[in-house]
Amino acid sequence: MRAPFSEARIPMQKKINLVAGGVALILAAAAAGAAAAPSPPIVLKAAHLFDSVSGKLVDHGVVVVVGKKIQAVGADAKIPEGAQTIDLGDATLVPGFIDAHVHLSGVASNNWYEDWYNGIMRFPTEQALYGAHYAKETLEAGITTVRDLGSTDYIAVSMRNAINAGVIPGPRMLVSNYAVGSTGGHADQDPVPAQKIAVAGPMQGVCNGPEQCREAVRYQIKYGANVIKFMPSGGVLSLSDPVDNVQLTQEEMNAIVGEAHAWGRKVAAHCHGDRAAKMAIAAGVDSIEHGSFLQPDTLTEMKKKHVFLVPTLFAGYWTGQHLDTFPPSIAQKAKAASAAVQQMFKNAVKIGTPVAMGTDAGVEPHGLNAKEFSLMVSYGMAPEQVLMAGTANGAELLGLADQTGTLTAGKSADIVAVPGNPLTNMAATEHPVLVMKEGTLYVQPAAR
Ligand SMILES: [Zn+2]
Repeated sequence: MRAPFSEARIPMQKKINLVAGGVALILAAAAAGAAAAPSPPIVLKAAHLFDSVSGKLVDHGVVVVVGKKIQAVGADAKIPEGAQTIDLGDATLVPGFIDAHVHLSGVASNNWYEDWYNGIMRFPTEQALYGAHYAKETLEAGITTVRDLGSTDYIAVSMRNAINAGVIPGPRMLVSNYAVGSTGGHADQDPVPAQKIAVAGPMQGVCNGPEQCREAVRYQIKYGANVIKFMPSGGVLSLSDPVDNVQLTQEEMNAIVGEAHAWGRKVAAHCHGDRAAKMAIAAGVDSIEHGSFLQPDTLTEMKKKHVFLVPTLFAGYWTGQHLDTFPPSIAQKAKAASAAVQQMFKNAVKIGTPVAMGTDAGVEPHGLNAKEFSLMVSYGMAPEQVLMAGTANGAELLGLADQTGTLTAGKSADIVAVPGNPLTNMAATEHPVLVMKEGTLYVQPAAR
């Protein structure tokens, strides 16, 4: 009885192989075609170049790009034959910016209630089309790499894959999928009656007890997470929790961080509250996000253990400016967090806590990311430290230091040019005149 069945399968299998072979041939032909006409090397010239290793501005900036990579850097770099030169005049070449905290799949408007309605009514595929638009806005603002810390319905991971495949323009993305946290906490859904919207579980990042929290982490990794985001403390934009309470036990935090590290994933902890941050640091977390109420002893411990602070000052600033657009319970939390974050950041700078730039874009509109740099300067950080936080430090935190974050031969050609000198005018970073990611130009000066 089994023989005819097997025989019937053989031709089918051959047919599949044939089709697959055909696809491989077409792809090979396409690759050969591309190789036959390679794009010429590009030489970028500008009055200055920011060295994010030393933190110094160098005059006569030159970067030679061949294919997707930086081939040489510096005024005495050898210029390859047939290179196309782009002279940017009085501008500064900087490494492509890295935003370590975004939510690229959505954005809040100034109408919280309408956003809530759209959040329920839009299909995930529809929302992903918005995400593609936000990714383009972000890249064109000079952000060539992002860490997407929290999204629903696998939209961010789908965007990452489409960007990597060259289907849509966008920054290099590391994604967390769903954020992990407790029932009723900042990772959970709004407290809609369970009869109307299904209760979220470990697949959606909601977990109780160490075993379930491990399961929640494993689900995010199964579906493509590069990094794990979790919620030790309460948050601002959620309806059913205080902003700064502890929302996971030490055992749950240990389980989340331990499981993520066992799979080779770094862990970002959303913490406004100080007590929750201390517990997350004890669990071995890699970065603390927001950090609004962190005390000096916690910031000192972070320095000692080399735990990064991602202060998301722009999110605090933005929500502080739009308090009347939120429901009263959220407005109250936003007010308290944005009032505390400035002093916390000043303390972190004084103590020397490692800082990576992150905006929480999505809370505020996408593409305005570089406003974070100006806020960091106005809250007391030296401009060269600010630019390093948005380049080399970001690359280190994301585990991408061998690929990006500095203008170094052999690294990915992720390069931005900003007008004038950003160390004396940080707002210049908001208006890049050139954006290149992996050797491809997405913003360039108009041909004269
Ligand atoms: Zn966030």
